[in-house]
Amino acid sequence: MLAFEDNQNICIGTIENTSSSPVYLSSGTSPVPPHLPRLHPLKPSPLLSPSNSFLPPIDSQLRNNLLDLPRCGFPRNLSSSNSCSSCWNCGSVGPTSGAFLACGSCGAVQPVDSSVDYFQIFGMKKMYEIEEGDLEGIYKDWQKKLHPDLVHSKSEKEKGFAAEQSARVIDAYRTLKNPLSRALYLLKLEQIHVDEEKTVSDPDLLMEMMEMREAVEEAKDTQSLYEIQSKVKKKLDSWSNSFKEAFSKQDFDSAVNCTQRMKYYERALEEITKKL
Ligand SMILES: [Zn+2]
Repeated sequence: MLAFEDNQNICIGTIENTSSSPVYLSSGTSPVPPHLPRLHPLKPSPLLSPSNSFLPPIDSQLRNNLLDLPRCGFPRNLSSSNSCSSCWNCGSVGPTSGAFLACGSCGAVQPVDSSVDYFQIFGMKKMYEIEEGDLEGIYKDWQKKLHPDLVHSKSEKEKGFAAEQSARVIDAYRTLKNPLSRALYLLKLEQIHVDEEKTVSDPDLLMEMMEMREAVEEAKDTQSLYEIQSKVKKKLDSWSNSFKEAFSKQDFDSAVNCTQRMKYYERALEEITKKL
């Protein structure tokens, strides 16, 4: 499936549970920098359910210190035991670990290897805490390297690989960028399933939800809404920190509980934003 479209839109996934339509950012009005490829990533990350999907803010600030990415030796200090298969184009064998999106010898874009996880694509350790600046910079670099303009003279086969890799890089970026989806992805890598539709049974949380909903409904001006927003953000940060601690101790029950709280506060923030 080819993902590139030579048009003015970038599809970046679905938003909210009110619609399943793709969201398009027009490059004419959005801050999407002109160097970014016109991509069509096909589908939202499975980890981003409609209720916690988000739009990746693609800013126009270029990172100066771009890393040397899509080569076999790219990810440094990764403890992964992934092995690369040989290059379909030149036959050379890839590294014993790494993202291997492109061959280190001939530069040919390789087919998607689903055993390479999202953290490896970005050369990051599997940790909750990440440097957002690194994520942005590496994302932009990948996009440049997989840009349709760079592969337009290649075979249909390689163009197809580049399109699939681009879609996967976008999925990876969106999943890792958002704290909640990053948390859920980390749990998934640990084979821990989180029931995202589980109903809230904690009476304290239920009471808090009702109070917050009332406060939002009764807010008379934007100032009051900003105040509620600020409180909710603090709570989200606090549960995000709790997740970090629980996950680092491998206390997965607590970690799952934290993601449920985070989801609730993210939804609350979405509701507040709608009213602002
Ligand atoms: Zn090769």
